[in-house]
Amino acid sequence: MEAAGFDPDRIRANLSAVRQRMRAACESADRDPEAVRLLLATKTQPPGAVRIAIEAGERLVAENRVQEIRPKFEALEDLEYERHFIGHLQSNKINALLPFVSCIQTLDRTSLAAKLQKKLEREGEEIDVLLQVNTSGEDSKFGVAPEAAVEFAKEVRTYDALRIRGLMTIGLLGEDPEAARPSLALLRQIRDQISELDLDGVRMDELSMGMSADLEVAIAEGSTIIRVGSAIFGAREPEN
Ligand SMILES: *Cc1c(COP(=O)(O)O)cnc(C)c1O
Repeated sequence: MEAAGFDPDRIRANLSAVRQRMRAACESADRDPEAVRLLLATKTQPPGAVRIAIEAGERLVAENRVQEIRPKFEALEDLEYERHFIGHLQSNKINALLPFVSCIQTLDRTSLAAKLQKKLEREGEEIDVLLQVNTSGEDSKFGVAPEAAVEFAKEVRTYDALRIRGLMTIGLLGEDPEAARPSLALLRQIRDQISELDLDGVRMDELSMGMSADLEVAIAEGSTIIRVGSAIFGAREPEN
């Protein structure tokens, strides 16, 4: 029976299927399955649906909208899990976001880095960040241009409350998941390029890339964090 618009058994079955896809992809790519984490992209999902997935063993959850974070945090307060932010962050939402997340995956501009630094410094805190790169070249996507990524890493590095842990991208979405491959491979190349510079305070451990449709391609291209929403929670209401 469905309660509050979601079906717990369906979510559990979907999770097993996604986990199975990840294992198969790791095997094909000859990668250690432990080296790829599954992040639940829970935008628009009710807290009860997210609870099912956490109770099934998932530990990494992310939101896109600052206003959804607090209510879900409060509804799931009894559970242990890690929260990341994967949406476009407006600087006037920083204060409402920071108490609730351990990593911002979508750092995409210096002005935002400066504002985060100011706030964190005042509180004596630090946060993990990933640098978002627009690898598909679509105007609709946020992120720094690929050719600006190295310079961006060097700039963000000067803000010592921001711990750079890697890169994030949304691959090109097409009919065929292979459409995403060039953009996902590009993120890995940028990661290698930045790693080689061996910049103090810049770690390139994480490559957050791959979603429901293209997770196999992303794992083959080196992803360490797969962000999955619809393959677990079902199709979302159309966004407007
Ligand atoms: C919604 C979302 C995802 C998950 O997308 P699905 O196709 O539903 O798996 C991943 N990353 C970001 C940034 C998202 O907003």
